[in-house]
Amino acid sequence: MKTTALVGFGDADSFYASAETVRRPFLVGLPVGVLGNQGACVIARNYPMKKYGVKVGEPIWEAKQKCPQGVYIKRDFRWYETLSRKMLAEVGRYSHRVEYYSIDEFFWEGSANRGQSYEQTAVDVRDHVKRATGLPMTVAFARTRTLAKLAADMAKPFGAVALTCPDQETDLLRRTPVTEIAGIAKRSAAKLEPHGIKTCLDLRQASGLLVRRLLTVVGHDIWRELNGVRAVPIRPSRSPHKMLARGGSLAGRVRDAHTLYGWLVRNIERLIEELQFHEVRASTLTVAVSYFDAESAAGVAHLSVPSDRFDILLDAAKRGLRTAWRQGKTATHMHLIASGLRRGPWQQSLFEPPDPKLDAVARVKRAVNERYGRWKLRSGATLYANDWYDDPANEHEVCDIRGKFCF
Ligand SMILES: [Mg+2]
Repeated sequence: MKTTALVGFGDADSFYASAETVRRPFLVGLPVGVLGNQGACVIARNYPMKKYGVKVGEPIWEAKQKCPQGVYIKRDFRWYETLSRKMLAEVGRYSHRVEYYSIDEFFWEGSANRGQSYEQTAVDVRDHVKRATGLPMTVAFARTRTLAKLAADMAKPFGAVALTCPDQETDLLRRTPVTEIAGIAKRSAAKLEPHGIKTCLDLRQASGLLVRRLLTVVGHDIWRELNGVRAVPIRPSRSPHKMLARGGSLAGRVRDAHTLYGWLVRNIERLIEELQFHEVRASTLTVAVSYFDAESAAGVAHLSVPSDRFDILLDAAKRGLRTAWRQGKTATHMHLIASGLRRGPWQQSLFEPPDPKLDAVARVKRAVNERYGRWKLRSGATLYANDWYDDPANEHEVCDIRGKFCF
């Protein structure tokens, strides 16, 4: 097998928990659990805590029963993003073409270090990232990204591997169930099973036509990748967004309209940051709300002119929320989705002429927050969700991290 150009893949081990250990070295060797925004659920844990059977998504009170001596820390996405960018920079020393796939996963066009094999290079990358950032990472090289990711998953934690001969690939695929492949969930696996396809090797050896019929073109791409064909290229930069969204958990159960309105405004302010960062304006705004005791609901509002201005988006969001709001029901999550994204110049609407005063206010707000920190200047409506702003750990939420392909 030719090994002149392989795909590199790096994935930090227990990233959130490892990131906490980087800034609190006394945690080394201790069981560490990272808690979600309410401090109620474990969203990540390190290997010492895994040994106690603590699972992701488990409530803190159950985790504490299993692992009373564990150290439980509230998540801090701003810190995780800082380390994520540091890892990206260090991986960038090995390749000019690096894809920021998720907050702790990177693909790159790989080549072996001069005078070294791919195995040695994988060890070198892993050890270099550990020295430079303090983070343990598993590194793998293979012919395609799907193979590299599978190899890394099987080599965790702190592994360094390279699939450079056909026997290594075959051996890995034989002992790996198809559900280990990102993109093949239980439902897809259930479609494959009647055809005797259970392992990744079964899938690789199946007919491409059959796989395409069962799993559409996405599954067919995975099949090609398992066969060593690069169906999904490395993408150092992503294509322009078709939509931008901000939102997430409401940090508990929200029943009153004022608090929900506070969250609506917070999410608009986050969305405006994103629209301005990408230099686009929204033509359509969708407000989606999930409820604890009712079906999720969404309201769509069309803007008469594409906009990134607070008052115009707020007006549209209110219309969207009116449709999505279920009075008397308990809301748990909210998302704002901006679509129909436009870059200027565009026709100004007669109904929404430029407003120099509001434009000036927006400029001041942006300048203050860029200079003195996020949320230093924010709408008074967000006072209804004030508890959230009191905790600096909430300054960044997970989807505020830019540039990744998925999360
Ligand atoms: Mg990871």
